[in-house]
Amino acid sequence: MQILDGIAVSAHIKSQIKQETEKLKAEKGKTPHLAAILVGHNPASEAYVGNKVRTCEELGFGSTLLRFEDSITEAQLLEEIKKLNADDKIDGILVQLPLPKHISDNAVINAIDPGKDVDGFHPITQGKMLLGQPSFLPATPYGILLMLEHYNINTAGMHCVVIGRSNIVGTPMTVLMSRNAQPGNATVTICHSKTKDLAAITKTADIIIAAIGRPRFVTADMVKEGAIVIDVGINRIDDATRKSGSRLVGDVDYDNVAPKCSYITPVPKGVGPMTICGLMKNTLEAAKEHV
Ligand code: NAD
Repeated sequence: MQILDGIAVSAHIKSQIKQETEKLKAEKGKTPHLAAILVGHNPASEAYVGNKVRTCEELGFGSTLLRFEDSITEAQLLEEIKKLNADDKIDGILVQLPLPKHISDNAVINAIDPGKDVDGFHPITQGKMLLGQPSFLPATPYGILLMLEHYNINTAGMHCVVIGRSNIVGTPMTVLMSRNAQPGNATVTICHSKTKDLAAITKTADIIIAAIGRPRFVTADMVKEGAIVIDVGINRIDDATRKSGSRLVGDVDYDNVAPKCSYITPVPKGVGPMTICGLMKNTLEAAKEHV
């Protein structure tokens, strides 16, 4: 069993991004710049955005963090996005989800200039991805592809079972794993909350990609010997042995599943850092387009 090490792979990819950024600055006088919007005070969202802003600094990118209270209206938020769309300095815009209930995710995502849609959530971005046209890839699926690529895992002909059908992870993951590319060329099955006898399906999987949001949901009896397991889930559970009283676990029962796997991502330090890499690679590409 080999651990797919998100920290090591992301360090490698970040050093490449850093070099390319220095070149872009020296040759074209262009510094990639990411704008992040954070609404409210959700602790997980604060941590994710803080990480993204810190990574910008580490890579030599510029960054702008716009913070708003939960009371901001949808119209006001759309106005802020309009300003970022019009600002030539800004190459990428990300709006940290979830948003408060009174604001429509779709309205906000649709308002982002597709040329600055570095999270890859806009319908135009996802439409292009679906058709195999050049586009930003949604950051988490992109990060997973980068991980598979880094470890030279040949996914052609494999049976890939994706659990979860969200617009930001599960659904785009199925598109990318089935396209005629490497990584890709897999035979893909998508499972979700209405799937019958999930275990019977996952047991046939060469690759399982779990994006469910349920702690340790994928158990050892659901996984065949030698499978590759990619755990996207980030779930906080109580843990009295920790000073904080809690810890993060994935959607996979790691301790029991890992011994059966050929490769597995841990949580944390697996897919999470790769998502940030996907975002940063998209931002660099956006900056190159904006020279
Ligand atoms: P979501 O809530 O939008 O979607 C969850 C999916 O799981 C749904 O499509 C649902 O059909 C499926 N599901 C729920 N219960 C199920 C069941 N019993 N059996 C089979 N399928 C079931 O979630 P999301 O935004 O895709 O995120 C999933 C998880 O990944 C969350 O824990 C989230 O925090 C995490 N996440 C991590 C990263 C990262 O960078 N590591 C990025 C995005 C999301």
